[in-house]
Amino acid sequence: LRQVKHPASPDLNGTRQVIGEYDAKKLLQPYGVPVSREHLVRALDDGRSVAREIGFPVVLKVVSDDIPHKSEHGLVIVGLRNEAEFDAAWRLLEERLSRLDNAKIDGYLVQEFVADGIEVFGGVSRDPDFGLSLAFGMGGIGIEVMKDFALRLLPLRNGDIEALIGETKGAALLRPYRGRPGADLRSLVDCLYGLADFAQANAERIAEIDLNPIKVREDGKGCVVVDALIVLR
Ligand code: ADP
Ligand code: MG
Repeated sequence: LRQVKHPASPDLNGTRQVIGEYDAKKLLQPYGVPVSREHLVRALDDGRSVAREIGFPVVLKVVSDDIPHKSEHGLVIVGLRNEAEFDAAWRLLEERLSRLDNAKIDGYLVQEFVADGIEVFGGVSRDPDFGLSLAFGMGGIGIEVMKDFALRLLPLRNGDIEALIGETKGAALLRPYRGRPGADLRSLVDCLYGLADFAQANAERIAEIDLNPIKVREDGKGCVVVDALIVLR
């Protein structure tokens, strides 16, 4: 596999305002946040060999600090089952990109497709008076439409995250139900503590963090962050 050069390892000291998915995950992972297997590439040939290495099905996305909400521009294509579908998706993204002027592109992200799991949201936001807080809610329409989420101010105390999850209505979907196994709550709790630790460690710079979605698999199978965004102030 040819190694792809990526400009400098990410840090929070530069002048970037927005840190897109690829670099955001690199920053969060050392804090115990589990992230999807993925590589950033620039050429189709490299993309194909990464897809083979990760194993189909894969996801293909365009990564750019200038495009924080990728799917609004059709720049996320999931569930690519083979090389033919991969090539076609690559061409489609190229075409969509050609219609977006002025966006500075880091590359194409080839990522494992996480087919199973319940989608949840984990985030950090800043209130001008109270400072940073951690948010949790269900993914998809859970947060945006149902307003089903809960908040805790940082720093957290022991047990805060377990309580936070329990405060949302959607938490019922994570528990075992009539013989169906529950979701891996332990790994979700660890993931959210990792997010909180990262935010605390960089508290002065953070305006907002979105892990959206985190895919929570069934008990024992862990969870995985498939999209992340950091906004600095
Ligand atoms: P956006 O920048 O628009 O939020 P995402 O990276 O979150 O883009 O992708 C949009 C949606 O595609 C996600 O909400 C999720 O449902 C799905 N998705 C993204 N990445 C994966 C993945 N690796 N495996 C499975 N589904 C994914
Ligand atoms: Mg997202």
